[in-house]
Amino acid sequence: MAEHTKRRPDLTPIPAAQNQILAAFSPLGAEDVPVGEAAGRVLAAEISAPIDLPAFDGSSMDGFALLASDTLGASLTSPVVLKVVADIPAGHHFKGGLEPGQAARIMTGAPLPQGADAVVPVEDTDYGVRAIGTQAPAQVEVYRPVERGDYVRPRGQDVSQGETVLTPKRRLRPQDVGVLAMLGFEAVPVSQRPKVGLMAPGDELLPLGAPLTPGKIFDSNSYMLEALIAGVGGAVVNLGIVPDQMEVVRTGLDRAVGEGVDLLLSTGGVSVGAFDFVRAVLEQEGELDLWRVNMRPGKPLAFGRYRGVPYLGLPGNPVSAYVGFQVFVQPVLRKLQGLSRPTPETRRVKLLERVESDGRESYLRAVVTFEGGRWVARLTGHQGSGNLYSLVQANALLMIPAGVTLLEQGAEADAWML
Ligand code: AMP
Ligand code: MG
Repeated sequence: MAEHTKRRPDLTPIPAAQNQILAAFSPLGAEDVPVGEAAGRVLAAEISAPIDLPAFDGSSMDGFALLASDTLGASLTSPVVLKVVADIPAGHHFKGGLEPGQAARIMTGAPLPQGADAVVPVEDTDYGVRAIGTQAPAQVEVYRPVERGDYVRPRGQDVSQGETVLTPKRRLRPQDVGVLAMLGFEAVPVSQRPKVGLMAPGDELLPLGAPLTPGKIFDSNSYMLEALIAGVGGAVVNLGIVPDQMEVVRTGLDRAVGEGVDLLLSTGGVSVGAFDFVRAVLEQEGELDLWRVNMRPGKPLAFGRYRGVPYLGLPGNPVSAYVGFQVFVQPVLRKLQGLSRPTPETRRVKLLERVESDGRESYLRAVVTFEGGRWVARLTGHQGSGNLYSLVQANALLMIPAGVTLLEQGAEADAWML
């Protein structure tokens, strides 16, 4: 039950704009980083295991290492009695071996002695003591039979030497980093971090800590965008707040170009006001490839090159800047790191209220909850693109396709979960 309008020919459709922007970038090279700094980075090479994991047969319990064949018929009423010939804490290796009739006290993670093929947990013996500093007993009564391999972590159970454990083009998660350390890697090759020159032009912008004077606002986009960039693995060269003066803007951009940034990103100055000079800068010092997209919020979007470096001008309104980042910049930063194009995590939701749009592809702030057995969505207040708090209250962006101007209450839509 959606109403449609004709698409505005002066506005580039979002998918076309995304394609055009992405095509301007190729993946960056790789660099080695210490494993301790690798979490969140994108792996750049295949990793195979140089060793088995576990690297040796070890005990998975505190107990007694023994020969399973010695425990046949053991019970509480007729225990098997074994001579304890060694005490093996974790990290220590018993050079001798076990013979039939013998056992070794063993702790979790300690290597199994030669000859042993199973462990009986302390709970199944007469020796339940494992307080710090206690001596191993001279002999132990075993109250139940165990089978070969019981409570033993065999060598190579998790990973065999030579096996591929991690494939490239994946973001390293904490557990990935853990397994790299388990395998003994000190450093790993990862994609270079994309460097983003970030600029906030605007005479109204104040740095944090400055007194709030009439007509001024605090620069918030720099902080939000820096966090977004870091969140997808990019590094920021912060060009800070600059006044609405063409020469100062140029100086900042030149500095970023000199620092070898992969992307110039600005927020604001792309509307059509008298002081919105991003367009002029690009037309003078490079090229403007894209101007205005069929999107709500965030219609003003500039893309081109400044002295050969790709330049993306996001709108100044904070919600537009956020949505513009998610739709256009995030895929670029992923591509630079060798990651595939993201498919937003969406949920099919039922609208709890009537939703209007103007026919542009819209991303509306919404709260998605699970109610009455299904996902439902309601908007979070006024959708003005300067109202950042309504984005703070949202957990999703409701996606209204281009051309749709009305969705009735009860209709379905896709929500992009944030
Ligand atoms: P502009 O695109 O420069 O016309 O800016 C559109 C709106 O966004 C104006 O209300 C600006 O004050 C606001 N704005 C621009 N830059 C920022 C920024 N860095 N942080 C917060 N708001 C901004
Ligand atoms: Mg401005």
